[in-house]
Amino acid sequence: MCEIANNLEKVRARIQRACEQCGRDPSEVELLAVSKKKDVETVREAVTAGQLLLGENRIQEVLIKQPELSGAVQWHLIGHLQSNKVKHAIHCRFECIHSVDSAKLMHALNKEAGEQGVVQNILLQVNVSGEGSKFGIAPDDLIPLLEEAAKCMHLNVEGLMTIPPLSEDPEKAGPYFKQLRDLRDQAAAETGFPLTFLSMGMSHDMEVAIREGATMVRVGTDIFGTRS
Ligand SMILES: *Cc1c(COP(=O)(O)O)cnc(C)c1O
Repeated sequence: MCEIANNLEKVRARIQRACEQCGRDPSEVELLAVSKKKDVETVREAVTAGQLLLGENRIQEVLIKQPELSGAVQWHLIGHLQSNKVKHAIHCRFECIHSVDSAKLMHALNKEAGEQGVVQNILLQVNVSGEGSKFGIAPDDLIPLLEEAAKCMHLNVEGLMTIPPLSEDPEKAGPYFKQLRDLRDQAAAETGFPLTFLSMGMSHDMEVAIREGATMVRVGTDIFGTRS
């Protein structure tokens, strides 16, 4: 078996085991393979092994890879999106854009989606810790942003995403993941948005994220190896 198929199998087994340990149904947790900085041939190995959900963080890279890979692939944008790339971003027909972090960006996406005649699925990125990732809204800004989102007819807000501060110890991310879930519960109750999706957890902390309620883990290194 090739290395990437083997890695995928190991990651899927980890997800399965993490679900068993906290009594969750493994079908509730999707695996997004983060293929950024990996070439098309490498990514194709994952697709051939049945991994159809791919995450990228740069539009330019997606534009190169999309024509080379099968139509069954679902692309997700997980990296910061600049307003001047919004037209291309909508054009890529991402299954979901995980990194929406301002009202300005949200309205720009809504306008462009309307012009291209599509409804774009999005997640709102929250910086729960106030440190770590420099992107993401403050928790207090979530409800106002959802009130704005309610006016965006060409966007579908599916949930929340976070990147906790980097730490050697995966357990250190636990409180941040829990904070995102609590914030979701509270915002869903207050606004009526179901916010079903919680995109959280990466290679080193996916088990902790699953325990705290992740519905999608974003895994790069443990599938494709380290990045240069
Ligand atoms: C690169 C990246 C990942 C994957 O991280 P790994 O540690 O390689 O699994 C997940 N989420 C985001 C937003 C990323 O940029």
